[in-house]
Amino acid sequence: MNKFSTVLVAIDFSDSSDNAFQMALSLAKTFSAQLLVLHVINEPVDLRGFYVPHISFARLEEEIEEGAQKMMESFCRTHIVDFEDFQELIVAGLPYEEIIAQAAEKSADLIVLGTHGRSGLDHVLFGSTAEKVVRKSTVPVLTVRLEE
Ligand code: AMP
Repeated sequence: MNKFSTVLVAIDFSDSSDNAFQMALSLAKTFSAQLLVLHVINEPVDLRGFYVPHISFARLEEEIEEGAQKMMESFCRTHIVDFEDFQELIVAGLPYEEIIAQAAEKSADLIVLGTHGRSGLDHVLFGSTAEKVVRKSTVPVLTVRLEE
């Protein structure tokens, strides 16, 4: 049987990713794997430096990063007990691209995602992060559905 040494779980602080996180933590414990907890700050590429003067935009970015860092720390403090081999990761960009890139960079053996995100919507028109990761990742992906 393949052994999972590094499990990457992508969280957007939604109930769905909370649920996926529980599964990822349980797998990491079972396989004594390292758990990478990744959050991607969805970068507003089109707005960068265009509508907002550069200085205030830079400050806004800093505040967003600080806020995300605090949320991540609080998430890990409240969700992880009896487990120490985890790493918090915060990056900015397109969520599906960064999830795939971070999994490759950190040599993850498995990516764990929720089927829904913060909007809770089925992404009929645009496709979801989960769908894109499943389609494009070369690393195995486990999606976890939250029962209503
Ligand atoms: P969505 O595509 O928004 O329906 O989200 C599906 C799943 O992808 C979520 O439950 C998370 O596991 C993951 N995900 C979505 N957005 C992000 C994000 N910004 N950072 C990390 N993971 C995310």
